[in-house]
Amino acid sequence: MQEGVKNSPTPAANLRRSLGYPVEMAKQDPKERIHNFHEVALGYTEEEAVQEASRCLACTNPHCMEGCPVEIDIPVFIRLIKERKFAEAVEKVKEKNCLPAVCGRVCPQETQCQQMCILTKKCIPIEIGRLERFVGDIELQKGLHTPKTSSATGKKVAIVGAGPAGLTTAAELAKLGHKVVIFEALHTAGGVLVYGIPEFRLPKEIVNAEVNYIKKLGAELRTDVMVGKLFSIEDLQKDYDAVFIGTGAGLPMFLCIPGENLCGIYSANEFLIRVNLMKSYNFPRYDTPIKVGKHVAVIGGGNVAMDAARSALRMGAEKVTVIYRRSRQELPARHEEYENAVEEGIIFEFLATPSKFIGDEQGWVKGIELLTMQLGEPDASGRRRPVPVPGSETIMEAETVIVAIGRTPNPIIQSETKGLITTDHGTIAADKNTGKTSLDGVYTGGDIMTGEATVISAMNSGKKAAQAINAYLIIKT
Ligand code: FAD
Ligand code: SF4
Repeated sequence: MQEGVKNSPTPAANLRRSLGYPVEMAKQDPKERIHNFHEVALGYTEEEAVQEASRCLACTNPHCMEGCPVEIDIPVFIRLIKERKFAEAVEKVKEKNCLPAVCGRVCPQETQCQQMCILTKKCIPIEIGRLERFVGDIELQKGLHTPKTSSATGKKVAIVGAGPAGLTTAAELAKLGHKVVIFEALHTAGGVLVYGIPEFRLPKEIVNAEVNYIKKLGAELRTDVMVGKLFSIEDLQKDYDAVFIGTGAGLPMFLCIPGENLCGIYSANEFLIRVNLMKSYNFPRYDTPIKVGKHVAVIGGGNVAMDAARSALRMGAEKVTVIYRRSRQELPARHEEYENAVEEGIIFEFLATPSKFIGDEQGWVKGIELLTMQLGEPDASGRRRPVPVPGSETIMEAETVIVAIGRTPNPIIQSETKGLITTDHGTIAADKNTGKTSLDGVYTGGDIMTGEATVISAMNSGKKAAQAINAYLIIKT
């Protein structure tokens, strides 16, 4: 939320409003923001939030809720904003979502609640995500909400991984009065929210503040603990009444084409971890520099590719090109992130794929051989299959390449845990409604169960697992 900014709508804003358009959210100017890592979208002021909430029709049969994986009571929290009952709006959202300031920033609302909003048919949907962000931010600034928990049950649950899945499971179980301990391999909690998504899209202080809320509920966080190496799931089973595994999909995929081992070629994971978590953008204050060439090529078309491309630009690249094998229509990145990237001057090379990397005498990448693609019949994903055009090779110069073509599950726990059944994709096999694995009292959720997905789907599976664990603990009594 923009603090202390009083809204005085411009005539253009008033006209947009009278025509039924949503209230726009201020953003940093593209010319300025490509030189800093500060947040791009600035959030609604109180007045703007109230105005946007006033567009809601308070439907008696609100379809928007059907599109929310964690079932937030959307019409009610929007009405509370409209009535300026901000503390009550926070209570309403927090009933179902322990990370609203995060979700308000990164959830793909345009394909979830907002797509289902009745106003999508008539005009433009309510900006539910921006209103959720407003509620999350006002809570972080004003501390309106007092966490409530049930009395202690005496049961102990170990949570492995402090990403959105683990944090949500922890929050839900702590609210029910169970003792919860979260074990996290990194030095900080948040998972992809801190090591993947860049500061300019999701500031770390927002993630830390929402993690602190979960600690206030009673969850204990132990960082720098790699479960599967330091101790096993079997060890945890001896000390805890139940275990939840939420270790995510942090293993990068590669193209497996000639030249991929050249210097200057990074996986998006490595690049983003070095920029975000190790703060190479703040060198020499942080002693972890990263080399970024004049022309950076990013391979892929998802949110990860957009984050890598926009980070590379802020790290000083003169030109950044995203290479995607399908067309704009199939681009999996959120529309908003694509628009932001275009505004910032990122170039998009659609219908192209690398066939090999070309190096110099010192073993550094200097170019990419690209093949032109055309779209064939739809494949298993429902999108049209990209097919190479024979003889279409061209060379693109690039001193840095970032490969952002997907991630697979972290394998350590699966390989170290006897009796834990996995799928052909390396995910942990589990009941999708409960997260119950092949081991008694061991549950799972998030990307390690579904394969790489979204923050809200990880939270949804964490909530389901928490309910199942609670039921298991009651029976165990
Ligand atoms: P993670 O977030 O991966 O968290 C897993 C945690 O487990 C990590 O902290 C890890 O360190 C820890 N861990 C792993 N192994 C062990 C171990 N053995 N012992 C202890 N701890 C362990 N989704 C969206 O909805 N919107 C977006 O805009 C978006 N952008 C993204 C951008 C990037 C760059 C990336 C990589 C992903 C993005 N996603 C986005 C996807 C989303 O972030 C993930 O789907 C989500 O974080 C999965 O949550 P998780 O809890 O399952 O796993
Ligand atoms: Fe409001 Fe849209 Fe939900 Fe109706 S469907 S209650 S207009 S957000």
